[in-house]
Amino acid sequence: MKMIFLGPPGAGKGTLADLAVEERKLPHISTGDLFRAAVKNETELGLKVKGILASGGLVPDDLTIALVKERLSAPDAASGWILDGFPRTIPQAEALEALAPADRVVNFEVADEVVVGRLSTRRVCRACGKIYNTKTMPPKKEGVCDACGGEVYTRDDDKEASIRTRLENYRRQTAPLIQWYGARGKLLTIDGVGDPKVVLERFNKALA
Ligand SMILES: [Zn+2]
Repeated sequence: MKMIFLGPPGAGKGTLADLAVEERKLPHISTGDLFRAAVKNETELGLKVKGILASGGLVPDDLTIALVKERLSAPDAASGWILDGFPRTIPQAEALEALAPADRVVNFEVADEVVVGRLSTRRVCRACGKIYNTKTMPPKKEGVCDACGGEVYTRDDDKEASIRTRLENYRRQTAPLIQWYGARGKLLTIDGVGDPKVVLERFNKALA
């Protein structure tokens, strides 16, 4: 089955995709991972991405589509996949539809206040990258990493004003996609609030 996961930042899409691909033996393809791998392997496309990211720009649709196209032609993607972080725009969705149409587009619904609550309590270790949460998983000693003793801090991305900007961008970009896939009868909306295992159960039930 070919599936696209949609949902706001902080909806837990990546975690859900990891759980779902494990059950379904499909590759989890995220554009973030594709960008990082292409840059690391210094492919022709990767060098272009590297230059754009280094200058703080957004990777344009044609380049993103080319990377996704390359990845979807790999043998492990022949019987299906879960795409996460792509498509983000209507031109990207149109390109994908022409290349390898998705069977289902799963929209994980999480209200803005829930996202803000989740992300604004997130902390990360500056040294080893371990993730904490001030409510659900605080470090034993405030501000100090359990694993390596490094400084545990709030990323700029996880400050409330920045979270609200990311949410606004997401809503603006993705609302048209939800409509677009809805009109093609591919959209499935799942309540994304709760423990990832519970959300996965809802997802499996909805697909059954
Ligand atoms: Zn650490």
